[in-house]
Amino acid sequence: MPRHKVRPSMTKAKNFPLHADLETVLVSEKDIKKRVKKLGAELAEAYGDEEITVVSIINGAILFTADLLREIPNPIRLDCIRISSYRNDTRSLGQPKILQSLTLDISNRHVLLIDDILDTGKTFSAVAAMLRKLNPASLRTCVLLDKRGRREVEFEADFVGFQIPDKFVVGYGLDFAERYRNLPCIGVLKPNLQNPPEW
Ligand code: 5GP
Repeated sequence: MPRHKVRPSMTKAKNFPLHADLETVLVSEKDIKKRVKKLGAELAEAYGDEEITVVSIINGAILFTADLLREIPNPIRLDCIRISSYRNDTRSLGQPKILQSLTLDISNRHVLLIDDILDTGKTFSAVAAMLRKLNPASLRTCVLLDKRGRREVEFEADFVGFQIPDKFVVGYGLDFAERYRNLPCIGVLKPNLQNPPEW
């Protein structure tokens, strides 16, 4: 599987005031669009004519899932689960908890688990283990971003959008205290905004 490294850039897209809060843009809107299209083609090839049951981890993977699914021509069933791992901070809370679980039956289905970012690996490995117990016909995993250097649990995704350095990132679904999800690019906040006093 090709791994796409990012080149940090100081380029800021125009006409989006939230950009002013970023110190660095790690992945531009244009690069996200290009890579998501390519990932869709890779997934379509991997699944052939099969129907895919997509399980998306919300809220972080909402934007990525919405764009990616429109690049996959296969029949798709979509379900979402909600996990807690980060709160109003840039640090992990430790072991993830499932706050909202599946509504679809995934037994004997080809399941594709989608998340925004693979960091310590705790979330993905816990959710993948839970899904495996439900006897899917197959289980593959896809993340937009991978911070491989931060792994605490051994876990590799089958499909990866971009490898990124060990930085706390926001945008394109990823938040800081529920802000910045609507930024069309992915970037690092200015240091003085990473711990705002009253959020
Ligand atoms: P893991 O369990 O792999 O440590 O963390 C996965 C979850 O942590 C992601 O789904 C995401 O919600 C959150 N996370 C990890 N790194 C970042 C980051 O750089 N930015 C944001 N906004 N969330 C992150």
